[in-house]
Amino acid sequence: MKVAFKTLGCKLNYSETSAISREFTKNGHQKVSFDELSDIYVINTCSVTQNADKEFKYLVNKVKRKNPKSSVIAIGCYAQLKPNKISNIKGVDLVVGADKKFEISNYLDFSKNDSTKVHSCEINSVNFFKNSFSIGDRTRSFLKVQDGCDYKCTYCTIPLARGKSRSGKIEDLISNAEYLVSNGIKEIVLTGVNIGDYGIYDPDSNQRETNFFKLIKEFNKVKMLDRVRISSIEPNLLTDDIISFVSNSKMFVNHFHIPLQSGSDKILNLMKRRYLTSLYSSRIKKIKELMPDCCIGVDVIVGFPNESDEDFMQTFNFLSDLDISYLHVFSYSERDNTESIKLTNKVSKTIKSQRSKSLRALSSKKKNIFYKKNLKIIRPVLFESKNNDGYIFGYTDNYVRVKALWSKNLIDKVVNCKLIDISNNEMVNVIPLI
Ligand code: SF4
Repeated sequence: MKVAFKTLGCKLNYSETSAISREFTKNGHQKVSFDELSDIYVINTCSVTQNADKEFKYLVNKVKRKNPKSSVIAIGCYAQLKPNKISNIKGVDLVVGADKKFEISNYLDFSKNDSTKVHSCEINSVNFFKNSFSIGDRTRSFLKVQDGCDYKCTYCTIPLARGKSRSGKIEDLISNAEYLVSNGIKEIVLTGVNIGDYGIYDPDSNQRETNFFKLIKEFNKVKMLDRVRISSIEPNLLTDDIISFVSNSKMFVNHFHIPLQSGSDKILNLMKRRYLTSLYSSRIKKIKELMPDCCIGVDVIVGFPNESDEDFMQTFNFLSDLDISYLHVFSYSERDNTESIKLTNKVSKTIKSQRSKSLRALSSKKKNIFYKKNLKIIRPVLFESKNNDGYIFGYTDNYVRVKALWSKNLIDKVVNCKLIDISNNEMVNVIPLI
């Protein structure tokens, strides 16, 4: 049968869709693009995206118009959180929960006369699927090393959708990395929900046998791997040891993505984040001391309940003063079964959108400053493979998005390039030195 896949949301979902599609191919099915005519459409949903249900319904209608006889399968965080709601959407044939999504082929017995089947699961009993990585469609691979989260941030549904924190065994993850290298992957992005919490526990003593620092030291030994990138790490788990290790490693690139969420300690407390602004700024200072050219991305939420004008200005000023490179700005939105839904003093939609706009403008300014600092110097670029109207795109080690004139010789290669000038505040034009 032909099977097509669509991923909504994060890189973790992307790595899992890729793993699930490999299972289908192993079982003799043919993978096709989501825009093509297919027998089965698998949609890996997200619960973080606003309007998750609208987006999902749109996709279901789209594929059913294309092939009314096709079967639609919903998996992912939204499917885990709202299996019954999703199963009531017209056109959905199967909903599969978090633990069972890696064995969908066991559930492919569609009987058109039956109503939608739901194979949900108890989220606390989910396991770690050891071979979740993307391969084949990109120069970079997203490799899942950890899943779930034991934190209790008051706005977040991820622990409900993905379960408790759990991690892959070092030997399995390294063997995945070696497999990826042997298949031409140049850069691995270590991915998880809360990767700084990576750890395997001894079942007898319940003591942590290994941690994220040990894991990255093992990755650093993988032969022929050009780059490793850490996807996103909580500030309280980003230790001096990790920062110092990355600064000395030839393989781990100078790039961190560190969620802040708010520059107001009052709001951080209401969010039940595990740090205050003083810790956050000390992390940034340490990184910049050791790696002045390091790219630092920041997640921030605007409009959390009780966020006054003054709290927002604290966030704005805090971020303005920090030596960071870009922001990912999110507007707070209420989610069922979270603690923050019960908070009063909600922030209006209009104010949320004004605050979001201000921070997006700040992000653009920060990015421009960061890109300017990188001009006139030479950095290694990992090029991709697509011809974009005569240009080929890529990233420097420190995450500057670049473009060069198209050349087949650059495809999937790491090449030293001189960074010339900025185009539309989006990309830097480079000259490859080959
Ligand atoms: S650290 Fe907080 S925001 Fe991140 S997944 Fe865990 S609970 Fe959610």
